[in-house]
Amino acid sequence: MIKPDFWTVPPRILIVDDEKTIRLILRRILEKDGYQVIEANNGEECLEICQKQLANMILMDAMMPGMDGFTCCGKLHKLLGENSPPVLMITVLDDQASVDLAFQVGATDYVTKPIHWAVLRQRVRRLLEIQWAMSELRRQVEKQQMLTEKLEKVNQELERLASVDSLTMIANRRQFDRFIETEWKRAQRNDLPLSIIICDVDFFKAYNDTYGHPAGDSCLKKVADIIIRNVGRPADLVARYGGEEFVIVLSETDREGAVHIAEKIRHSIKDAAIPHQGSKVTNCVTISCGVASRKLCLGKEKSESQPSDLIRKADLALYEAKFQGRDRVCVDSRS
Ligand SMILES: [Mg+2]
Repeated sequence: MIKPDFWTVPPRILIVDDEKTIRLILRRILEKDGYQVIEANNGEECLEICQKQLANMILMDAMMPGMDGFTCCGKLHKLLGENSPPVLMITVLDDQASVDLAFQVGATDYVTKPIHWAVLRQRVRRLLEIQWAMSELRRQVEKQQMLTEKLEKVNQELERLASVDSLTMIANRRQFDRFIETEWKRAQRNDLPLSIIICDVDFFKAYNDTYGHPAGDSCLKKVADIIIRNVGRPADLVARYGGEEFVIVLSETDREGAVHIAEKIRHSIKDAAIPHQGSKVTNCVTISCGVASRKLCLGKEKSESQPSDLIRKADLALYEAKFQGRDRVCVDSRS
């Protein structure tokens, strides 16, 4: 028994030879070694069989009437591509040209007639081992690729989940922190305007006390939706900043632009007329907004200010809006 032991089923070998006696001897030897054997009379028959059932390797006579072994081997590779089984060419011609041709048409190895049986058995075994190793390697690579793709998807999903607020499904504080950092640097590098708006739902504690927390959550979702609808540009970011606080980063937007958007949001929320009996402003949900903008350097030396300064300024403006009676937009005076 010479068959490699890693095969779970006996490897199938296709013998293609026009001489019946040769086929018979080959079959006897190979079956004795534990292989399954199928036979083809000529090149045409070989191609026909290979399209129906794949052999693990092919023993191909080079000289056959009609389609010879070289032509058949070439066609087989065209037909099956990388699924083409290894071909061991059996040739009476040991000249350089025939050997070259055999390899050129895709044969994996060759033996010469008269066949040295011990050599043939070793070559068959070796080819099968290589074929097995190659397909095993291909399987492993495919498996690895699948795993990598799966892992990438999971990572993307994790990344998405880690940057999204689970209640409102808008960006969370973490994403805001990263975003403002990047946008700040970009604005500083190119001396571009950059504004932020911090919005806070007025008397939200009273809302929760009046309607309960589930209603409070749904109110925050509505507010988030309205804000998103009013901030249309993909380069901007709307994030949940804290409990009932939202923050909007407006790239390349100056103070006037930011105030305009803040007012638009404030009006839209008022227009939505979400009942709020606990509010001391009116009987529906309102918000207060603080706006702050980055000061342009205009050729002067770049300031040492940080994104946190901008946030602090917007916070102060929000505080001012609350102080002045809520339901309004205030701007940081130094912006
Ligand atoms: Mg022949």
